Amino acid sequence: MQYEAVIGLEIHAQLLTESKMFCGCPTKFGSEPNTQTCPVCIGMPGVLPVMNRKAIEYVIRTGIALNCGIAPHSRFARKNYFYPDLPKGYQISQYELPLCERGFVEITVSGDTRRIGLTRIHLEEDAGKNIHEGAGNESFVDLNRAGTPLMEIVSEPDIRSPQEAAEFVKKLRTVVRYIGVCDGNMEEGSLRCDANVSVRPAGQTELGTKTEIKNMNSFRFIEKALDYEIRRQIKMLKEGDRVIQETRLWDPNRGVTESMRSKEEAHDYRYFPDPDLMPVEVEQSWIDEITAGMVELPDVTRHRFIEKYSLSGDDADFIVSERVTAAWFEEAVNHGGDPKNVINWIKGDLMKLLNEDNRQIEGCLLTPRHLVGMLGLLDKGTISGKIAKTVFEEMYKTGKDAEAIVKEKGLVQMSDETGIEAIVDEVLSKSPQEVERFRAGDAKLMGFFVGQIMKLTKGKANPKIVNELLKKKLLG
Ligand code: ADP
Ligand code: ZN
Ligand code: MG
Repeated sequence: MQYEAVIGLEIHAQLLTESKMFCGCPTKFGSEPNTQTCPVCIGMPGVLPVMNRKAIEYVIRTGIALNCGIAPHSRFARKNYFYPDLPKGYQISQYELPLCERGFVEITVSGDTRRIGLTRIHLEEDAGKNIHEGAGNESFVDLNRAGTPLMEIVSEPDIRSPQEAAEFVKKLRTVVRYIGVCDGNMEEGSLRCDANVSVRPAGQTELGTKTEIKNMNSFRFIEKALDYEIRRQIKMLKEGDRVIQETRLWDPNRGVTESMRSKEEAHDYRYFPDPDLMPVEVEQSWIDEITAGMVELPDVTRHRFIEKYSLSGDDADFIVSERVTAAWFEEAVNHGGDPKNVINWIKGDLMKLLNEDNRQIEGCLLTPRHLVGMLGLLDKGTISGKIAKTVFEEMYKTGKDAEAIVKEKGLVQMSDETGIEAIVDEVLSKSPQEVERFRAGDAKLMGFFVGQIMKLTKGKANPKIVNELLKKKLLG
């Protein structure tokens, strides 16, 4: 029997607000434990929460970007449970009235585009962190993160494979970064993903029993964990066992998911409206204002780039995956760069240099204008393709423009025929045996001659002229 996987994701995204959801504490990552706290976020009695308007705006912005309806009335609720990282004994969340409902995201896997429904997006506060490290037999609680605004995006069970799941998270990550509501850093936990997964016989419409997997902090782990879990469930069904509804933890070291706890039901949390907080009223004029201030979304940019610059789908995907990269590209084209050329330089040399330095394109000394200047020198034949790579790296390191570097380092391409001819003659007269073998049919030796000439000219000889001269002299 064939089985089909059914996956629904819950994404938690930490919002990029300066302060927490219900108090004025900062949200900066990596500070000394418990230095970003106040009576509100450590749950002292008698204090009152105050809503962060920016956080609500960010969720509305996300809702608009993800094709959701924005609720005119929504409400915060208390989700009650005990855990040491939750000093109030309840988490403020949204339950029956979330801020956004019914949206969708389009993803493409192996050329197949599918629409994944979004059930809801709601706003809640994050908990603190329990720390179990150090030699002693003790644990610690850091409440710096407690009360940080967290947006939860819940998908419909529309996803059918681990690849689609990873693509879905990639897409959401790109969108939240584009619209500036979350930095999308999965390693630091500002974007976290829980995956609900079940399997069922192909063709069956009823859903199977699901498990929920936590602790996947990269795209690769999402794919691996789901792949493992789907196999595990199929194997159980084949052996006549039943899948138990539970929460499982991905262990990246062993490459398996493990049972963590049995799944709680919503009624276990005793949700009720938070009496300390007013209902949230969102007026249409506010939604209109946020819509008007929206940046161009990645799908739209992608489409526009393909139309306007004749990019291939793959190139377009690459260039729009980050807004700064797309902007960098477009600026270079606006300065007169050939789109395909510009993309190749970004994809190749620029990405390589940035990766080596573990840096982003933001703040890069090499500007789009620099690249276009260099492409001009290449076009005119002032520098060779080989020298261009050196110039590019120098521009990246120093932020100087191509012309200045070429002048400073004497990198102008040698294009005068007489000068090159002298060097060609020199190389050929020094290698009589190679010349003989070449004339006897060993065509590979052409590379050897070119190499020798480039060595003598430090890569500056115009390769076209070198080739022509060599052919003329060797083949007569
Ligand atoms: P719960 O009540 O367990 O929280 P929800 O109905 O709220 O479950 O759904 C949580 C997530 O699980 C959603 O993303 C949803 O699409 C997904 N989901 C629900 N049922 C299944 C299922 N049988 N198989 C896979 N995913 C599912
Ligand atoms: Zn606080
Ligand atoms: Mg639920």
